[in-house]
Amino acid sequence: GSFSDLQLSRPLLRACEALGYTSPTPIQAACVPLALAGRDICGSAITGSGKTAAFALPILERLLFRPRQTAAIYVLILTPTRELAVQIHSMVSKLAQFTDISAALVVGGLSLQAQAAALRKGPEIVVATPGRIIDHLRNTQSFGLEDLAVLVLDEADRLLEMGFKEEIVRLSPKKRQTLLFSATMSEQVRDLMSLSLKAPVRLAA
Ligand code: AMP
Repeated sequence: GSFSDLQLSRPLLRACEALGYTSPTPIQAACVPLALAGRDICGSAITGSGKTAAFALPILERLLFRPRQTAAIYVLILTPTRELAVQIHSMVSKLAQFTDISAALVVGGLSLQAQAAALRKGPEIVVATPGRIIDHLRNTQSFGLEDLAVLVLDEADRLLEMGFKEEIVRLSPKKRQTLLFSATMSEQVRDLMSLSLKAPVRLAA
């Protein structure tokens, strides 16, 4: 297969080309069409499988056809560590390089006030660690989750160890798409799945 079989727009195909991606990885070939169709996904893909582009490409495709909103996050990508957040933010920015979609990075160690100012501008995509986003939700009132259309829970098993709070799921609209990835399926991951996913498709890679 090739990326042009995946119903992605020209700016995204150009970005894949620029990154030297010639054909989709198995998780990308499986995930992109299902996510574009609006399905919730529960994936057991690990780092190195091409998981990031598997969820980022359909998200970017959706955003290309969405009128710009302000002061509300449209896509929230949660990942357990600062390092993973930096990597995902960088990959999303590269895949979005031929679009006008912007992504903000919200992690510990950076100024809370500077991040709050960036969040108030209403970036379409926020890549965050759970502790820092909860800090903003509770303390800076710099954004709302009321327009959240897509929630990504990356490495859900580790997210739970890193202080993920169910209030993020409870505060986001019921009518949203959720993409959850986890290397392991513990009792707590299953609980988070039933809280956050609607009729999910299961994918392994
Ligand atoms: P990930 O699993 O998302 O951490 O991606 C692992 C590595 O694979 C990253 O360096 C990506 O840039 C690269 N990658 C992702 N998709 C493809 C693809 N379709 N072809 C070649 N490399 C890819």
